[in-house]
Amino acid sequence: MCDHCLQHGSAGKWYLNAKNYTAEVLEEMGKDEAFLKEFLLEQYKTFEAMQVRQVAGFSAVGLGYKMQIPLVGRLIKTFAERMLHTKKTTFNPFKAEGHIGQVVPLDDAIAILDRCVDENTIIMKYCMCRFMSRAEKEACCINFGVMSDVIDKLPRFIPEPDESQFRISKEEAIRKFTEFNKKGYVGTIWYGAYPLINNLCACKSPECAGFRPRLDFGIKSIYKGEYVVVHNENNCQGCKQCVLKCQFGAISFNENLKQTEIDPHLCYGCGVCMHACKFDALKIIPRNEMEAVRGRY
Ligand code: SF4
Ligand code: SF4
Ligand code: SF4
Repeated sequence: MCDHCLQHGSAGKWYLNAKNYTAEVLEEMGKDEAFLKEFLLEQYKTFEAMQVRQVAGFSAVGLGYKMQIPLVGRLIKTFAERMLHTKKTTFNPFKAEGHIGQVVPLDDAIAILDRCVDENTIIMKYCMCRFMSRAEKEACCINFGVMSDVIDKLPRFIPEPDESQFRISKEEAIRKFTEFNKKGYVGTIWYGAYPLINNLCACKSPECAGFRPRLDFGIKSIYKGEYVVVHNENNCQGCKQCVLKCQFGAISFNENLKQTEIDPHLCYGCGVCMHACKFDALKIIPRNEMEAVRGRY
């Protein structure tokens, strides 16, 4: 259980606490929807600009090199984690303040859509990370709440050709998310801004800007899921299909045993490898049931 769960969880999971999806949490922060709309719009523009120019004096260009400079790298990491994890309510749209996420497997994502999200606000828009890094237009980002009202001001993220289709029902959102998850995209749920939840994403490496800081530099931009996968050696047929699905390099193939092996320390508990296994050899269990990774997010 992470620090977010302790404060905002329901049965240990912050993202299954329906209150975190409502205007009630905004009121507790002393903010209203108009403020948050303006903030989110500015923050979106900042994310886009970040790829090409300095924002608030910082340039993401050459980040890999900067991170390798001993003191500079450590300072950037500390600064980035403080910014992402901040619980300040004086948001600055020029920073990704309070924008932290966690990996969710299919069943939890369905529970989010089914039990927590206001159906009237669900939209599906182009993934910004794929759009910005590869000019790829793939509508797989599910937004809700205030975030959905911002989309009208960001028409480039509205899926073509039938613009009327981007507002979708709960049933349709579940169907689409399931389809993406089975395809191998990792489910992630995001605060934006803390403690309001408004994004359920279907992410792909290496494009995902949420995962890159974590995978490349160890910056906790996203938490591992509440689960970890376990392998049933008796059922495994060594077909390697699961190896191809894991975006985190947690599954390797042992040529001597002709079976796969899982490194639980690398596993994010996303569950997408299970969809690939036709032999019922993989299942996810709660992270806290495996001592080696308990409390390690
Ligand atoms: S977080 Fe994931 S789905 Fe959302 S915009 Fe980034 S890659 Fe796309
Ligand atoms: S091994 Fe873990 S991280 Fe990799 S696909 Fe399976 S559940 Fe996800
Ligand atoms: S997909 Fe299933 S059967 Fe195939 S290698 Fe992976 S765990 Fe074994």
